[in-house]
Order: sequence, then structure tokens, then C-alpha cells
Amino acid sequence: MSTVDWSKLSFGYIKTDYNIRSHYRDGKWSEPEAETSEYINLHMAATTLHYGQEVFEGLKAFRGKDGKVRIFRMHENALRLQSSCRGIKMAELPVEMFEKMVLQAVKKNEHFVPPYESGASLYIRPLMIGTSAQVGVKPSVEYTFIIFVTPVGPYFKAGFKPTPMVILREYDRAAPLGTGTYKVGGNYAASLVAGEKAHEMGYSAVLYLDAKEKKYIDECGPANFFAIKDNTYITPKSTSILPSITNKSLMQLAEDMGLKVERRPIPEEELETFEEAGACGTAAVISPILRIDDISENKSYVFSKDGEPGPISLKLYNQLRAIQYGDESDKYGWVTIVE
Ligand SMILES: *Cc1c(COP(=O)(O)O)cnc(C)c1O
Repeated sequence: MSTVDWSKLSFGYIKTDYNIRSHYRDGKWSEPEAETSEYINLHMAATTLHYGQEVFEGLKAFRGKDGKVRIFRMHENALRLQSSCRGIKMAELPVEMFEKMVLQAVKKNEHFVPPYESGASLYIRPLMIGTSAQVGVKPSVEYTFIIFVTPVGPYFKAGFKPTPMVILREYDRAAPLGTGTYKVGGNYAASLVAGEKAHEMGYSAVLYLDAKEKKYIDECGPANFFAIKDNTYITPKSTSILPSITNKSLMQLAEDMGLKVERRPIPEEELETFEEAGACGTAAVISPILRIDDISENKSYVFSKDGEPGPISLKLYNQLRAIQYGDESDKYGWVTIVE
């Protein structure tokens, strides 16, 4: 049995029993195998190391009050992984294989799925790398796909509280016709300098503007942006945003709550008119935004005067979590129960 202290979990890495792997060679994926080693035996000339052929995913499994384990929207992650693979010329993994391997990874490590009461969950990290040894700049012909899992603590240890974010105009995360819409490691490398700078300045994340005109809201580091005004859920439309599955789910829930949903370019000035704003993604579901400072322009936009999240953000957060933990019925078929 695992000896994890569920109450002390953070968003780190804890070794679990097995990871699941498949290798792509001669145009075919191998039968997935469970491994206990945490290491990869990799050629030093592998394309992933030199030319960044790496894509990944992130999803979660939750244990319900009934003790059952539920995986949230893995079909969507399978499709997005394929899109990322096409985006940087990697071999695509069949959707059924992705789903089968996720289930295998969760089942084989089931005692690492935290109990319902802990508010923690099992984070699932699929990744693919190009492994062919080559020095010329061209796509690899061989790939390795791995899924590992690790238990993670509740994101909001001190409660669901808004945090400040910052616009740093001297940095871009992704170009308008670049790889921003794909979940590739390279985008994260490109965001580390700005991200660390923001943390040093006391902000939780960087809010990026569109790279071309610096006029429109793009995304919040590793999360999508949304805002609420006049009973409307508004989220940016842009060619450099990663399509968040959390955002897609929140748009559906917002509609069900009777809100209008708009996906369109959001000019920075419009920030002044928003009643609530937040970042959304698998890690936190929603991180409410306290305030956004546009430092070089000397502007500040405040979304929470009392330091509390807005009522609609709170309702959306509770509703999505309830579906994930099985407290609310799964009317869209978002959840896969691990049998
Ligand atoms: C993964 C990711 C998100 C969030 O996507 P979810 O599917 O909601 O977890 C948002 N932005 C970026 C850049 C990401 O990599």
C-alpha cells in the first residue's frame, strides 16, 4: 500500500508503481507495456533533445464519495495530443490507444488515487518524444510515448482565493502563426523567463497580450483567460492560444447556468469593464484574478475589491469539481469510471 500523507501533497512529483510505454517504429506503435523504471534510455542525438520534438498532455483522475475513480474528459486529451503531434510533425497516437493506456496507468497505480475527503487527485501526464538519432533538422522516424501518474494536492490549500497577475509587454509566449495552439514543451521553455520574473515581483502568472499588435488578451501563462460581465462568459479567440479543455467545459456549464458565452478578441481596454476574471486549466480548474497590472503602461485593473472570488466564478468552479468528483450527475458523458 502507498504511504503517502494525502494532506501534505503539493503539485510535485511522487514516484508511483508503474508507467505505461509504447514505441513507434517502422510505422507502427508497439503493444503498451507497464514499466517500473522512472528513466528513459535515450540516444544523445535524439530529435527531442536538439530540435524539441516533444508534446505532452495533462489530465486528472478523482476518487468519489462512492470510492470509484473517475477520469475527466480523456477523449478530448487524446484528440488534442494528436493535434499537437501534427503541429510539430510527430507520429500520431490512435485515440483508442491513448484511452487504453490512460486507464492502464490509473488502474495499475490505483492506490495512489487520493481519497475523496482530501480534495487531492491523481495527475496523469502523457508525453511523447522523438527518439531517432539524427543531426539533420527533420522529423524523427521513431517515437516513445509514456504515461506516468503522480498524486497532487488540492491547488487551493488556503481556500479558493484570487491572486494578482501581470502584463509584461517585453515578452511573448507564442507567435500568431507559431505553435501556441499545440501543447509542446518548447512553448513552456519560451515562457520561463517572464514567468519567473512575474513570481519574483509577487504575481502568480503573466497575462500575455497577442504578440502581433499587443492589443488583445491572449492567455495566462499555462492557463486560458475568461471574464464575466453582464451575465456573459467571455474568453479570447486567438490563433496562439492552447485550446483548454477546462475552458471548453466551463463554457458549457456557463451556458447551462443561463449565461451567454462569447469567444472573441478581447481588447485590453475591455478589462476595465469586467466584473470577474480568472485563469482556467486542469491544475486549478479556476484561479480567480484579483488584479491585473500592465506595468509599463502604468495601468491596473481590479476584479476583486474584497479579496474574494466573484459569485459566478465560484459557482462554475464548484459545478465543475462536483462533476469531476461524481457529486453531480455527468450529463455530458465527460467522465470515465475506472472499473
Ligand atoms: C495545458 C494548457 C492549458 C490548459 O488546458 P486544460 O486542458 O484546461 O488543462 C492552457 N494553456 C496552456 C498554454 C496549456 O499548455
